[in-house]
Amino acid sequence: MSSGNKLHNVVFVLGPPGSGKGTQCSRIQANLGFTHLSAGDLLRAERQRHGSEFGELIESHIRGGTIVPVEITCKLLENAMLASGDSAKGFLIDGFPRNQDNLDGWKRQMSDKVNVHFVLYLSAPIEVCVQRCLNRGQGRTDDNEESIQKRIVTYNEQTYPIIKHYEKQNMVREINGEKSADEVYAEVERIFQNAGFRHQA
Ligand code: UDP
Ligand code: MG
Repeated sequence: MSSGNKLHNVVFVLGPPGSGKGTQCSRIQANLGFTHLSAGDLLRAERQRHGSEFGELIESHIRGGTIVPVEITCKLLENAMLASGDSAKGFLIDGFPRNQDNLDGWKRQMSDKVNVHFVLYLSAPIEVCVQRCLNRGQGRTDDNEESIQKRIVTYNEQTYPIIKHYEKQNMVREINGEKSADEVYAEVERIFQNAGFRHQA
C-alpha cells in the first residue's frame, strides 16, 4: 500500500458465524485478485503473538462471543493492508464491522484511505450455521455449543443492525449462503462482475 492518495478498494463480508465467509473469501482471493483479511484470523494471530499485551483480552472476547474494542481490530486490519503492498486489487474484510463501535472506529481511522464498494452478505438459517461451526473441526476455542450460542446473540443484536445500516445505503449484496460452496461462489462472482471486478485469467 503506497503512502500516496490512491484509495484502496474494500468489500466487507458479513453474515452469521458459519455462513461461509472464510470459504467464499478464499475463492474470491484466488480468482478475483482481492486480498482476504479475516478480522477473526488477525485477532487469533495477535492472541498467539509472543509478547502481545492483548492476548488475554482477545481470548476472553472470542470465547464469550463478544466484540474486541475497535482500536485493536482496526489497527490489525490497517497493518495487514499496509503489509500487503500495492499489488492487491482490493481488500476483502471478512467479519468486520460487527457492531456500531467497529463502524465508528473504522470511519474515524480509515474513511479517508478506502473506498468501500459494497457489503457481501451471506445469509443462512441459524440451525445450519450452528451445525457447520460444530462440524468444521478447526480447533477453535469458540466452536462449542456455549460460545456459538453467545456469538449468535451478538450477531443478532449487534451485527445485523450494521447490515441494516448499509442496506439503507443500497450497499448490501445478499446471497443465500445455505447452498453449496460452488453455487454460492457463482453468485458471488456475478456480484463482483456487476461491480466492475473481473475474473483473472
Ligand atoms: N471478533 C471481534 N471483532 C472482529 C472480528 C472478530 O471481536 O472484528 C472476535 C469475536 O469475538 C468473534 C470471534 O472473533 O466472535 C471470531 O470471529 P470470526 O469472524 O473468526 O468468526 P466467524 O464469524 O467466522 O465464525
Ligand atoms: Mg470466519
